[in-house]
Amino acid sequence: MKRIVILGAGESGAGAAVLAKKEGFDVFVSDMSVISDKYKKMLDDHHIAWEEGRHSEELILNADEVIKSPGIPDTAPMVAKIKEKGTSIISEIEFAGRYTRSKMVCITGSNGKTTTTSLIHHIFREAGLDAGLAGNIGRSLALQVAEDPHEWYVIELSSFQLDNMYDFRAHIAILLNITPDHLDRYDNCMQNYTDAKMRIIRNQTPDDAFIYWSGDPIISRELDKYDIQSMLCPFSDRKEVMEAGYVSADGQFTVERPAMFTMPQEELSLTGRHNLYNSLAAALAADVAGISQEAIRRGLSTFPGVEHRLEKVATVDGIHYVNDSKATNVDACMYALESMKTPVILIIGGRDKGNDYTTLKPLVAEKCAGLVYLGADNAKLHANFDDMGIPVSDTHSMRDCMEACRRMARPGDTVLLSPCCASFDLFRNMEDRGEQFKTLVTATI
Ligand code: ADP
Repeated sequence: MKRIVILGAGESGAGAAVLAKKEGFDVFVSDMSVISDKYKKMLDDHHIAWEEGRHSEELILNADEVIKSPGIPDTAPMVAKIKEKGTSIISEIEFAGRYTRSKMVCITGSNGKTTTTSLIHHIFREAGLDAGLAGNIGRSLALQVAEDPHEWYVIELSSFQLDNMYDFRAHIAILLNITPDHLDRYDNCMQNYTDAKMRIIRNQTPDDAFIYWSGDPIISRELDKYDIQSMLCPFSDRKEVMEAGYVSADGQFTVERPAMFTMPQEELSLTGRHNLYNSLAAALAADVAGISQEAIRRGLSTFPGVEHRLEKVATVDGIHYVNDSKATNVDACMYALESMKTPVILIIGGRDKGNDYTTLKPLVAEKCAGLVYLGADNAKLHANFDDMGIPVSDTHSMRDCMEACRRMARPGDTVLLSPCCASFDLFRNMEDRGEQFKTLVTATI
């Protein structure tokens, strides 16, 4: 019997174990840290052997194939030993792909993956398709293939997952953008990271589609290196010669390939230029999947958004509250401010990652009626923004911050949490920051 070893018992590892067991393999799961109770129970329920807090080398090196969780780097000593022995190492997605004939919509990019994946899943479900959500979000693909199969899967793929994919085929592949990220895992080499992202088009056939942002200089350069078999569907915010998706001169959101589809841009539920790109990518994917114009329009206009990403929380006493806690860099905050249509009270601050605020100041001048600094140390914010003639307030907790916002805001204004910074100075993580914001907003309703 073929022996499969799974390294890492999180969502993807535990799911892969269940599928491997179902397919009749001899399965062993090994995790260097503590396995959560949920996954221990899952493994026990399926009579799968596991260990935690160690890697039993002899057992692991005896494997015929290893499935590695994306969080484990290639430099981990155990991985290096497996490689040295020449044993094949694959990802959970690669493994699951062997046991399903369902159609795969795969989304990657440096930014926008979760939003675009969730939006496509929403459109597919609205159109009545049987679609599962998998990859970095939702339940693991392997577990769904084993226990709850769907006709379609919409899968968010990180570069780490793509690294260990070889024969997997994306029927619809989406590449949103490529900007430097995770370079520590790629020998500080941008080309290595780029190569990982480009793996999304491996194994595509002429029946498949490749959707990508044509405005991205790295993607444009890379395209020349590959003999791409699939239908090319580039998108951009202006129509260039060969765009498949774009916004026309009169403001119509337009998809040309494979079928013609238009809708007024104002009807899109997601706002901001970055979300225009994400919406174009999603509309193209839906069009390629054969979804009707009416259903695509409905999906694009009813998408509730993703938590902590320009999330509309509530309107209280005429003041709108928006949670963009995921905006942990200046770029993300710029996209958020750009999309605002009312005067803004901006909540900004946290753990600074070497931010340069000069690019943000023109937008702050144009959009903001007030600035509320929220961080353990707000000195850099004072130095950058205090001279702009905009009221500012200095706070060190979400409660004080919200009081300051309420004092500053007038009916019709938007209070926007888009902090440009990491959250770890005052919060557990960006989710905790967003949750505290939302709790205090809704507490007064
Ligand atoms: P990911 O899953 O790739 O991290 P998210 O959908 O969670 O992406 O969005 C993360 C942040 O990236 C958002 O807060 C937004 O500011 C920014 N973003 C979203 N889509 C794009 C895009 N297409 N291009 C550039 N930035 C984007």
